[in-house]
Amino acid sequence: MLPKNIWQEIETVFFDAEGTLFHITPSVGQIYAEICQEFGLKVNPHELNKTFLKTYLKHRGSFEASPESCFEGWRKVFLETISHFGELKDPETAYLKGYEIFARPEYFRLSPDTEETLSAIKASGRRLAIISNWDERLIRLISAFGLSHFFEDVIVSCEVGLMKPDPQIFELACQKLNTPPEKALMIGDNLNDDVLGAREAGLWALRYPGGSLKKLFPQEIFIS
Ligand SMILES: [Mg+2]
Repeated sequence: MLPKNIWQEIETVFFDAEGTLFHITPSVGQIYAEICQEFGLKVNPHELNKTFLKTYLKHRGSFEASPESCFEGWRKVFLETISHFGELKDPETAYLKGYEIFARPEYFRLSPDTEETLSAIKASGRRLAIISNWDERLIRLISAFGLSHFFEDVIVSCEVGLMKPDPQIFELACQKLNTPPEKALMIGDNLNDDVLGAREAGLWALRYPGGSLKKLFPQEIFIS
């Protein structure tokens, strides 16, 4: 939690999306394994998840900050991950199916107290926005969760051409919200991408360690 005198100065609260507001469930490996099975390949979800993470980390820098190449980048990650295990009957159709799955709320769960927390921050007179390394699917997901009305803006790496932890994405977000960085707070689960990146740009930042989102904020905003 921020010291009280600093919290009182905060005008805008930015949230990370995946790992903070909501979480892929059951796991990318499990979801990919189900798609593989449907397309004729039986794979261990745990092994698939490990290979996915390695492949994703290898490629992410080359596509998540580009408006043009997100779809292609994820395609490369998907096909390269699967190639370690065998061949799918129709890999392109399988990829499209996987791409759409990650825009559907039934494959995500919200963090505990997400709606209550967003409501309370908004009711306290502060503004809310999202800064995420993601693509156009995030906007659809937020809408499907019924959370769009909380956020004044959703700043997505694939659309703005900048990626966390680059301080420029935080500076851009502050400009878009017309908030000085020292009056903005970033909340995210990733120390490097969310916390250190935001601090470098002059924002306040807190790492979300899991569990209830409420505990990161002063309890008086929850008493109405
Ligand atoms: Mg995250």
